[in-house]
Amino acid sequence: MNHFNYVRGSLHAEQVPLAAIAEAVGTPTYVYSTATLTRHFRVVTEAFQGTPHLICYSVKANSTLAVLHLFAKEGGGFDIVSGGELARVQRAGGSPGKTVFAGVGKTPEEMEQALAAGILMFNVESAEELEALDAVGRKVGRRAPFALRVNPDVDARTHRYISTGLKTSKFGVPFEEAVALYARSRKMKGLSAVGLDCHIGSQLTQAAPMKVAISKVAGLYRSLKEQGYPLSYLDIGGGLGITYSDETPPSPAEYARTVLKAVEDTGSTLILEPGRALVGNAGVLLTRVLYRKRTPTKTFVVVDVGMNDLIRPALYEAHHALQPVVKRRGKPVEVDVVGPVCESSDVLARARALVLPQQDDLYAVMSAGAYGMSMSSTYNSRPRSAEVLVDGAAWRVIRERETVEDLWRGERA
Ligand SMILES: *Cc1c(COP(=O)(O)O)cnc(C)c1O
Repeated sequence: MNHFNYVRGSLHAEQVPLAAIAEAVGTPTYVYSTATLTRHFRVVTEAFQGTPHLICYSVKANSTLAVLHLFAKEGGGFDIVSGGELARVQRAGGSPGKTVFAGVGKTPEEMEQALAAGILMFNVESAEELEALDAVGRKVGRRAPFALRVNPDVDARTHRYISTGLKTSKFGVPFEEAVALYARSRKMKGLSAVGLDCHIGSQLTQAAPMKVAISKVAGLYRSLKEQGYPLSYLDIGGGLGITYSDETPPSPAEYARTVLKAVEDTGSTLILEPGRALVGNAGVLLTRVLYRKRTPTKTFVVVDVGMNDLIRPALYEAHHALQPVVKRRGKPVEVDVVGPVCESSDVLARARALVLPQQDDLYAVMSAGAYGMSMSSTYNSRPRSAEVLVDGAAWRVIRERETVEDLWRGERA
């Protein structure tokens, strides 16, 4: 559920007409709904009520300070993948004590930063990384709390670029290796084993692979506990999918039922790392039509959002619905909606049926709250978008549009 609805033909974010935001701030602009963000967080919390758990919002989905601040206020923790993300969490008032740190390439500097900050645990992805973390722990004189990220070798049945749980993936370690590494860690003075972790992929829309993966990992957790490891956290990662067009992912309640059944009797505190499910449908990206262009074979609509602003269509062939900010009457025609970036892959929507817009018409690119702004770049020397947060009838700019001077900050001619 989200809070983007038409009121007399005009698309609103909560009670604010999107046209008013575009008028005041310009385009491209990301617009988020506080009510939707909050609702998503609370629905997941309610689904796991009665089970000791911690929701660690996956920062990479949308790392804007105001979004992090909102989840921190809700009592959430964070799943980070870099020292930069840790700094953002701290700047936004998030608690390092509720933060877990994943990723295959943590540097010793990032480990030291995170250990000093007092994070909840490191999700370690290789034997050499474990040794590096042990060295950092000994250097600082503190045992670094860690979980091993295991690879359950399950096909998440999602796009290959966002599937992480196959044995050919760079993420995690195989089960047998994990068992050997926990055993080795007993003698490592800079480490303390506190949990077990997995994450099988993103935009998961089927319960079956989740069930298989989490059951396997829960089995390993039980066996490690029996061997005397003092583990308390079972981190099952994120990945719950959302509806972009006609996908029917499990609801948070169905997801919770699947998970809770699989982890029964582990006695663990569950860690959940949802990213997309919390923010994806809580944001839209406003864009303006620049030109219509007819060729002998096609009709193009050229808009001012490029692949630098939202890379998902170009990177994953992802589908984003396009809604006119003000409805226009007419018969839909088939168009390709393209951005201004000089790449053939800069196509926002291919062969889409739309009522042909006029120049200067506004569209909302729907479901753009996750992996939108956080993956944006300045390619083609395009300053990055502004971001706005709506709350009821109020709204405010939470990130100013970049200026051209920002583009060359730190450069020397
Ligand atoms: C990206 C990521 C997540 C979040 O994935 P979503 O699909 O956005 O829920 C969670 N955990 C880890 C380790 C990740 O890399």
